[in-house]
Order: sequence, then C-alpha cells, then structure tokens
Amino acid sequence: MDESKKVQIQEKKIHHLVILPLPFQGHINPMLQLGTILHSKGFSITVIHTHSNSPNPSNFPNFNFEPIPDGLSDHRLWTEDPLTLVSILNDTCQAPFHDRLSRLISDSQHGPVTCIITDELFHFTKAVADQLKLPRILLGTSSAACYATMSSLDFLQQNGLLSITDCQPDSLIPEIPPLRIKDIPDFSTTDPDTFERLWTNMKNATMSSLGYIMNTFDGLESTALKKVREDRHPIPLIAMGPLYKFSQGASNSLLTQDYSCMAWLDKQVPQSVIYISFGSSASIDKTHMEEIAWGLANSDQPFLWVLRPGSISGHDWVELPEGFEEKTRERGQIIKWAPQPEVLAHPSVGGFWTHNGWNSTLESICEGVPMLCSPYLWDQKVNARYVSHVWRVGMQLENGFERGEIEWAIRRLMVEIEGEEMRERVHDLKENAMHCLEKGGSSYESLESLVDFIMSL
Ligand code: UDP
Repeated sequence: MDESKKVQIQEKKIHHLVILPLPFQGHINPMLQLGTILHSKGFSITVIHTHSNSPNPSNFPNFNFEPIPDGLSDHRLWTEDPLTLVSILNDTCQAPFHDRLSRLISDSQHGPVTCIITDELFHFTKAVADQLKLPRILLGTSSAACYATMSSLDFLQQNGLLSITDCQPDSLIPEIPPLRIKDIPDFSTTDPDTFERLWTNMKNATMSSLGYIMNTFDGLESTALKKVREDRHPIPLIAMGPLYKFSQGASNSLLTQDYSCMAWLDKQVPQSVIYISFGSSASIDKTHMEEIAWGLANSDQPFLWVLRPGSISGHDWVELPEGFEEKTRERGQIIKWAPQPEVLAHPSVGGFWTHNGWNSTLESICEGVPMLCSPYLWDQKVNARYVSHVWRVGMQLENGFERGEIEWAIRRLMVEIEGEEMRERVHDLKENAMHCLEKGGSSYESLESLVDFIMSL
C-alpha cells in the first residue's frame, strides 16, 4: 500500500469494519445491506466470506472481499439440512477466520480493524474476537417475535411449566399467545438437541458482545423488542430495520434475478397478481408442486410463481402438470428467481404466498402486500402466526398443499373483503416502517447511535 494512502487513513481516522455473513441468502442479504449502510456513513468495509455461496464482489466495488475455506462441498451445501450446516460451519470456519482476521489486523491496508460484525449464528466468533481482542457486534436476522418466543420458552421449560413432548401440536401455549406448540421453532426441527445447543451458544455469544443489531422496527415489533431488550440486558439492542430500505440498489442475490417479469407485471391490472416464492432453501415434493399448480390454475387469478431449480425434492427440475400451461398461459408467469423487493413494490402485485422467511415477511410488510403463509421451519412458523393472528395481514394455509384449499385461500386473499381488510392493515404497517426510517424515527436514530458507538471504539 502506498504511504500517502496510509497517511490518509490515519489522518481521516477511517474506521475499518470486518463483516462476516452466514452463507445463506436470507443471512447474506441483511449483512451486506448493513455493510452498505455503514459504508455510506464513511466506514471502510471488509467482507470475510466462506467459499460456499460467496457474494459477488463486482456488486460491491467499494468493499474489500476476503474468502475463507469452509470445508463444504456443493453437494453437502444443497443436501444437508440448515441446522447441520450451521453446526459444521461453526467448526470449520473458526481457524480460517482467525487467520484471515490476524492478517487483516497486521496488514492495515484498509485501516486498523475497529470492530467485527458477525451473524449471530456464527457463535465461534466470540472465541476469535477474545483472542484477538477485537470488539464484536452481532447481527440477528430473525424477527424479534422469534427471539422473544425462544426466551419465553426457556423460562417455561426451566420452571417445569411446559413439556413440549406432552402437548398436542395444535395446543395453544397460554403464556405466549397466539402461538401453538407446532409453531415453536424447536418443535419443528428434526434434531431438537442440536437446536438447543445452537440456541444456548447463540445466547452466550450475544451476552458477551458489545451490541446486538436486529433487522426489524419499533412500529412493528415494539412488544417483542421490549422483551428481547429485557432478556439481553445490558447488551444494547439496536433495532434498525428494514435494512433493505436503507440500502436500496445493493443486490446480493446468489441466483440471477429474472427482470423480464417486471414488463409482464406492467401489463397487469393493479393489485391483481399473486406472487409466489418460498425463498432460497425450502423445498416441496412433486405432489405438492402439482397441487399448487392446480390451485393457481383454478383460482382464476393472475400469478407470478418462482420455481427455483432444486426446489422440488429429489429433482433438479420437473415438468408442470399436463394442461396447466394451456389453462394459465394468458395470466401466469413462472420464473426461476425474482427481483423480489421490486416485484413486491410493483403496483400490480396484490398478494404474496410466502414461506415467511424473515426477509420475505419484512419485505412484504414494507411494500404493503398481504400474505398467504406456508411456513416450513424454525422462525418461519412464528412469523406466519404473527402475520395471521397479531398483525392480521395474512392467513395461513393450515393443511399443507391441497388444490381446493389453495384455490379458496387465493380468492379470499385477492378478491374477498377479508383480503381487502388485510391490505388496509398492511398499508398502515408500511407507513409505520416509513416513519421509522425518517429522521427522528426509531430505526434512523438507532443507526445514528450505532455509528456514534462504533466511532467511539
Ligand atoms: N429472494 C429473491 N428472489 C426470489 C426469492 C427470494 O431475491 O425469487 C430474496 C428475498 O428478497 C429475500 C431472500 O431472498 O431477501 C430470502 O430470505 P428469507 O429470509 O425470506 O428466506 P430464506 O431464503 O432465508 O429461507
């Protein structure tokens, strides 16, 4: 590095942040959005990332990218369940992350490292930060509702007030309304022990961090945020979402987004199209895909359906049922991956059938689109229940995928008065989000205090 740049860094006291995303789309997005926001505030950003699912550096020309090995083959990445992958990554990434960070500290090309910001599921980073004596801040990528639920469950279970195995899946848990046993994250995992270990490690890693950033906002989750604040006290909780709204234009997509659907949307009637996507990792079986296809066909509503390659279990790609294309040609589009926030913001889109990953849920709320919910696992079930029973901006398909129920639910959402009421409520939430982002709003002020805090380190 030339001397003049070094002097410039020292004189301007540029703060250098190292960020480490978990290599899944729903985690990469908020972390790179956060990096983009902090870069706009004058910080220099290095992204340390795994070889697997590495982000595209050319989309972020102002960032420095440093890859580390993670020991995962592509096959494993696509076949292991997410919980196992997170456990593996916590084992395999620690040494390479330590090495890369040590080199960055001594190299100083981008200025001395002020702080690291890591995904909270990377709990190994506590040990590395302690060894290298670096401040560490965490980014949580789920809803506050999910964390509040997990904390309440800890309390109930530790005090013998709830034994999940004794309860029926549909039983309501009176202490955490409106959740049922089947909505809680550890009930829906196939490996409760690993889940429990991960949750405990995450909590410990959080309690030893300097701060905890959440991608949500006060105008949506004030009660849950209050609970999380109490539980994590004295660690500062910084709720500064929706991050994607602060950092528009930064694309972190691992798959190519098909923008051709935007021209098709332009030709549709306002609020007439139901958009369907189950995120980056959920998969359905072939029979479910067929039920979805016929439910869509019979609903008579225009639709934009994301069928991601690999999203049908056991198949790279499957043919759609015979007769489906003919029946829907005039009013349906199928694509492999969408520019989702832009699609949701399009005036023609009037509903979103989602798996309720937190990013998708937040994007739908912030674009004012009511939801049909088909959650798969973990926090998605809590999010779906909040969508349908707390915010009342959507409804859940309770019995899996059955064409008659799908057809009926799509009509309720898209053309019935019930859907219209949900649309009105979600518009109010969208406005709340906008207020939180404005000067004086809670997320805006949280961002300012985060910047001041990092500057003071
Ligand atoms: N996404 C996208 N195109 C699609 C579907 C999803 O760009 O066709 C983005 C979406 O905007 C969101 C992320 O992928 O930011 C998915 O994150 P989420 O938490 O909703 O679900 P996950 O993929 O982690 O299950």
